[in-house]
Amino acid sequence: MELITDPAELQNSLDQMRADGKSIGLVPTMGFLHRGHLSLIKRAVAENDVVITTIFVNPLQFAANEDLSTYPRDIEKDSSLCLEAGTTKLFTPANEEMFCDTVLTSISVTVLSSVLEGITRPTHFSGVATVVSKLFNIVGPCRSYFGEKDWQQLQIIKKMVTDLSYRVEVIGCPIIRDDDGLALSSRNVYLSDDEREVAAIIPQALHYAHGKVKSGERQSQLLKDSIIEQLQKSSLVSIDYVEVVNGDSLEPVTTVDAQTRILVAVRVGSARLIDNINALVGINTA
Ligand code: AMP
Repeated sequence: MELITDPAELQNSLDQMRADGKSIGLVPTMGFLHRGHLSLIKRAVAENDVVITTIFVNPLQFAANEDLSTYPRDIEKDSSLCLEAGTTKLFTPANEEMFCDTVLTSISVTVLSSVLEGITRPTHFSGVATVVSKLFNIVGPCRSYFGEKDWQQLQIIKKMVTDLSYRVEVIGCPIIRDDDGLALSSRNVYLSDDEREVAAIIPQALHYAHGKVKSGERQSQLLKDSIIEQLQKSSLVSIDYVEVVNGDSLEPVTTVDAQTRILVAVRVGSARLIDNINALVGINTA
């Protein structure tokens, strides 16, 4: 595995590899890797000749009151996990290498970015889209792998790729969960033991709602109410949102169909956790 920090060096070496007929897979991450990230890397390895994993804690996607300075980092452990998973090139640029000057350009995928997460994090997705766009320009034509864990982000990147004609195939990958169902996240490290135990209520509430769908319930409002009722059973959980939407447009729906996604964001202690399911499919067991 090659370690690269210079964007131009990565760009040039990948141009050469493409000229030699190699297919390229890209897995953008912020590091502190877990099995969720590794599932993306392994899929990219299975489907491409060359796999670039990027680790960059993107300052543009954090608001001033968020956890940029405390975001967990462990580059040594990440490097060995990337190597084990089959990464060909690990790209870990420093801030100054990504942005040699003040950034004046931003990509904004409107409408999709202002709902759900966008309500409490209004600048978040333009920070994500701007840096992902830059990574796409550095890496060039490729397949790029994103987790369904960040469902809204996945829809925004897909739309950006379509709207701006990036030569990138965006591939969504299933949510990887802990044994009790909690979606793996680098931010789970913020949870105390008690909070971690309580956090399992999130997938349980989603699973409960899916059970209702399986028994024939199709009214979004009733599903929403049942999830809120479940989550409110713990005093350690504070609900940011529970929404039942069309999975592509992210617009609220009144009746469940095959496209319906249920998304939740809650705070448990100092951690803000998100999760989602397809209403008809329920919690995946990957
Ligand atoms: P992050 O490092 O949190 O920015 O995540 C990098 C990529 O890994 C994003 O595409 C995430 O959606 C994906 N990811 C994070 N957690 C999981 C998970 N539990 N299962 C699947 N993908 C995940």
